[in-house]
Amino acid sequence: MVKAVAVLAGTDVKGTIFFSQEGDGPTTVTGSISGLKPGLHGFHVHALGDTTNGCMSTGPHFNPVGKEHGAPEDEDRHAGDLGNVTAGEDGVVNVNITDSQVSDTHFLQLAL
Ligand SMILES: [Zn+2]
Repeated sequence: MVKAVAVLAGTDVKGTIFFSQEGDGPTTVTGSISGLKPGLHGFHVHALGDTTNGCMSTGPHFNPVGKEHGAPEDEDRHAGDLGNVTAGEDGVVNVNITDSQVSDTHFLQLAL
């Protein structure tokens, strides 16, 4: 089992997202985010963990194998393209995504 975690600690938006993968199987992405405006929000893994200048310093969508931007169900998409999540009226999203392109190899590249 390979695991990773992303802690979101913005001024208003906070949350924790967990990634886990068993062997060569799909990756499970779970967790919750609070403080969002109700409705759809794009949900992507970016290339860099630098949030000193908000989204501007996080780099492009995580794309280790040079594909085009796409939807989660597309074969040709950035590995970090995880689609949209929907915040409820309380501003909370509970994430539960199973994805086959964010693999353990990608976790290693993120760690570098
Ligand atoms: Zn993308």
